Order: sequence, then structure tokens, then C-alpha cells
Amino acid sequence: MRSARRGSSLPDDCLFCNLFHEGDHVHAADGFVAIRDINPQADTHLLVLPERHVETFREIGEFDADEAKRMLEFVAETARAVGLEDYRVVVNVGPGAGQTVFHLHWHILGGSMRGLPE
Ligand code: AMP
Ligand code: ZN
Repeated sequence: MRSARRGSSLPDDCLFCNLFHEGDHVHAADGFVAIRDINPQADTHLLVLPERHVETFREIGEFDADEAKRMLEFVAETARAVGLEDYRVVVNVGPGAGQTVFHLHWHILGGSMRGLPE
């Protein structure tokens, strides 16, 4: 599978591009990592980050079909790896929906929840 990074458009100042390379990863494979959310909204609150920098879910078409499928599988694998059977997967799309970091990411929330992540 080709790398999930695209071209030379990697923004140096993107928090999640930096955490992809330097973060404390709960799980990692194939151009995807999972990290713990710094401000958890549930007993278990993870973030799945693709290495490929796209700002929002609106740009999902920048992933080819195999890569998009792999990303979704990685979300499910991550939940399984931390022992979650039942959980929520949330993507905030745009500031009006609570998105604060503009590098596509998937929230995984398990256990007791305090609200939707923002
Ligand atoms: P969103 O609001 O959907 O863009 O989600 C961004 C998430 O990133 C929030 O839940 C934040 O708590 C989380 N976050 C911000 N900075 C960090 C960090 N340094 N490490 C881990 N999670 C972070
Ligand atoms: Zn980024």
C-alpha cells in the first residue's frame, strides 16, 4: 500500500502532523496512528490520525478507496486493541460542528461519556 502522506504539502505547524511523527501512540500501522485525547470526554477517548494531511472529512475523496477502507479498519482495530466492544466513532466536520484541529481525525469514545467531543 502506498504511503498515506501526500506530496510536499505537509504543514509544519499542524499539531496532528507533528503528533503523527512524535506522539505517544496507542496503536500504529499503515500510515495511521491512534493517540489518547488530551481532554477526554469519555472513560476511553482516542483519536485516530491519518498521516495524510487533509483538513476535514469533506476532503475524504483525497484518500483512494483502499486507503479509506484501511482507515476505517484501523479505527475498528484500535477500539478492539484497547478492549472496547461498544463505542462511538465521531468526526466533527468544520468549526460549526466543534472541529478545533484541522487535520482529519476520528474520535473513538468508550465507557461512560461526558458529551460529544469538541
Ligand atoms: P476536534 O474538536 O474534533 O477537532 O478534536 C480535536 C481534539 O484534539 C480535542 O478533543 C482535543 O481535546 C484534542 N487535542 C488537542 N490537543 C491535543 C494534544 N496535544 N494531544 C492529544 N489530543 C489533543
Ligand atoms: Zn496535519
